[in-house]
Amino acid sequence: MNVLLVFAHPEPRSLNGALKDFALQRLRAQGHQVEVSDLYAMGWKAVLDGADFPARDAHAPLDTVGDSLQAYQSGTLTADVLAEHAKLRRADVLILQFPLWWFSLPAILKGWIDRVWACGFAYGVGEHSATHWGDRYGEGTFRGKRAMLMVTAGGWESHYAARGVNGPIDDILFPIQHGMLYYPGFAVLSPFVVYHTSRLDAARFAQTTATLGARLDALASTPPIPFRPQNGGDYTIPALALREDLAAGRSGFGVHVEG
Ligand code: FAD
Repeated sequence: MNVLLVFAHPEPRSLNGALKDFALQRLRAQGHQVEVSDLYAMGWKAVLDGADFPARDAHAPLDTVGDSLQAYQSGTLTADVLAEHAKLRRADVLILQFPLWWFSLPAILKGWIDRVWACGFAYGVGEHSATHWGDRYGEGTFRGKRAMLMVTAGGWESHYAARGVNGPIDDILFPIQHGMLYYPGFAVLSPFVVYHTSRLDAARFAQTTATLGARLDALASTPPIPFRPQNGGDYTIPALALREDLAAGRSGFGVHVEG
């Protein structure tokens, strides 16, 4: 398979750097073709602004959605974004690797999503009708591809358990896994998370890479998180609310997962 690993850590000698090196070696040993977008090393521009749409009318107010669609359709997005689109088109699997910073992505990786997920490419795709509300949440450009998060967190596993003070890890990652990955069509595998990073010694590093290696070996066969498809009948259109008879009496992120 072709794997694209997007790496967001400023220090190559970090734990994240060591896990990236391990992952690349393991994936290549398994015969996969691997490309890496090392965002800090690339000097990735993290903010979306008018410079992202060089062909736009500079006198008109910036239209972040409309200018994105126009630039995507006319092939005038910037070269750095077009290069990421080409890598994504080649990829069967996308891995986003990052340290959890303030319960989310480091800004440089959020900026990669903001700029690369252009209108017409990752959103604003497909027709809207009485039964179909655009190609998203299970449909879209990345349908048929898989994605997985590789995350490190300073907090303990118990801090991220169902009743942990930080909130459950599935809820914290929901906007990324459901909103950024499932929305444009990826099948999302459960995340690989390393907790309690400040107390990571050589023994736990060995244990961590053993688990990570097994996850990487199973990239093609691991069943994805069963997020509910938007256009499959579970949601009313156009309200896009889950039918009352499904997950009855429940609310929250978890209702968007089948079962
Ligand atoms: P490093 O600091 O590089 O290393 C961590 C440990 O791993 C060290 O003990 C190191 O000795 C060891 N190690 C490194 N490489 C190896 C190796 N090759 N072999 C063996 N051991 C090794 N945490 C949360 O839980 N929630 C948050 O919201 C959160 N927000 C944060 C916000 C900011 C801005 C920052 C800076 C940190 C935040 N943290 C948070 C903590 C953060 O998630 C961790 O610092 C990060 O995940 C650790 O990853 P690292 O690659 O930077 O580790």
